[in-house]
Amino acid sequence: MSVVKKTMPAEKEASVTLPWTRMAEGGLVPRGGTAASVRTGAWRTGQMPVLDLEACIHCLRCWIWCPDSAVLLDGEKVSGIDYDHCKGCGICAQVCPPKVHAIQMVAEEVEG
Ligand code: SF4
Ligand code: SF4
Repeated sequence: MSVVKKTMPAEKEASVTLPWTRMAEGGLVPRGGTAASVRTGAWRTGQMPVLDLEACIHCLRCWIWCPDSAVLLDGEKVSGIDYDHCKGCGICAQVCPPKVHAIQMVAEEVEG
């Protein structure tokens, strides 16, 4: 009978052997503002919001409701969508007044 010996990946082994005094405490955010420097929108749902600035009345509902702060402002007016952080949830399109309908969710082509 042959025996298959499993070995732990080097990075896993390193995390296991790290002294507890050097490990991050669980449940803590080590520093603030980290999302701004990370492209969190890289895994969008497959839908993306397209903003029609001609139709927009700048009521800011989309800006208030966006869970990812991905609706961009120029002063007190909406100026665009930050696709580096937008997740494609569609909330902005849902809260945009129906008579205005300035945001449409469209299917996004994924490069592969
Ligand atoms: S789709 Fe979602 S994450 Fe993207 S801008 Fe609209 S509300 Fe924000
Ligand atoms: S909710 Fe619609 S009308 Fe209001 S600011 Fe956003 S895009 Fe413009």
